[in-house]
Amino acid sequence: MQPKRADISEEKKRLIEGNHRFIQTHGHDLARHVSGQKPYAVILTCSDSRVPPEHIFNAGVGELFVVRDAGNIAFGSSVIGSLEYAVSHLHVPLLLILGHTNCGAMKASETGPGDGTCIGDIVNEIRCCFGGDDHLRDNVRRQEKMILQRSPAIAQAVESGALEIQGAIYHLEDGTVEFL
Ligand SMILES: [Zn+2]
Repeated sequence: MQPKRADISEEKKRLIEGNHRFIQTHGHDLARHVSGQKPYAVILTCSDSRVPPEHIFNAGVGELFVVRDAGNIAFGSSVIGSLEYAVSHLHVPLLLILGHTNCGAMKASETGPGDGTCIGDIVNEIRCCFGGDDHLRDNVRRQEKMILQRSPAIAQAVESGALEIQGAIYHLEDGTVEFL
């Protein structure tokens, strides 16, 4: 028997209609971005749907280079490599690590160690910051250190003065970004 497939017709319709609205609003202005990008910041933040960087910083197309994963962790070569690309090839001067309140990845990490799955790897990476009483901010601060340890190219950019790394917390409750 064939497995019952999820009915995604409504969701797909929302994507198509959303894209049409995007083209109506921004379509006239997109051509100037085709030849290249010059974002002013690279942001490592959580994949959480309530944390959309372009909305939070009122930024447009081409302004932010965004890398997202659960728990905003600088973990794995795809994340580190993407951050390095922004720093070494696009010469972005600011790298922001943006955690957020009510983070599910942080909460999951507080319940116990990882279980050997890929989600467990994320949990274990986050748990490395545990020890104090402010896991949310400690994770952001530790990820800043991890970026420097795991990426010689980014460490070099900081050393030379070409890059600043900044930590911050986004507050879901009122939209405030608290710079650490
Ligand atoms: Zn989160």
